[in-house]
Amino acid sequence: MNNCDHCESNEVKVHFNSEESSMNLCSNCYNELMSTELEVEIEPLIEPFSLKDYQGSSEGDCT
Ligand SMILES: [Zn+2]
Repeated sequence: MNNCDHCESNEVKVHFNSEESSMNLCSNCYNELMSTELEVEIEPLIEPFSLKDYQGSSEGDCT
């Protein structure tokens, strides 16, 4: 029997998989996670992102 990855005491009820990670959660922790996710979704996820860095500087030419 597996125990919840989060609280490590309850039996696993939910296998949660995403591209980044997989977690085994009990129903309590799953509900908790879902409510947390909801809060995260409400917050604006706008972060300063520098396109200049991505498009590259002219430094580091290998010639
Ligand atoms: Zn748990």
